[in-house]
Amino acid sequence: MRHFSCDICGDSIHDEHYVVKIELFAAFDPDELHETDFDADHLAMITEEVAAIESGQVEAPRESGVQRLRFDLCEGCRGRFLDDPLGRDALGRVNYSEN
Ligand SMILES: [Zn+2]
Repeated sequence: MRHFSCDICGDSIHDEHYVVKIELFAAFDPDELHETDFDADHLAMITEEVAAIESGQVEAPRESGVQRLRFDLCEGCRGRFLDDPLGRDALGRVNYSEN
């Protein structure tokens, strides 16, 4: 059996094992669409871009790529994660201590 340790507290996971998967990617903002966007031949544009990237002319856009993160959590940290998935409490505490 594979051994897992919790990515938050570092303890070995013996009983309940939880997995958090996060996908992070650049949001598409429909407000920024212009009417001309609907006329453009997007498939041709994408094909051109991909060809340019593949031939090394253009560097692949790094920031718009999807980042997939995976964390193993123990039961206790699962609850803590659900209470504050973005770690806002921790950020708040840092801010308070600076005052
Ligand atoms: Zn834990």
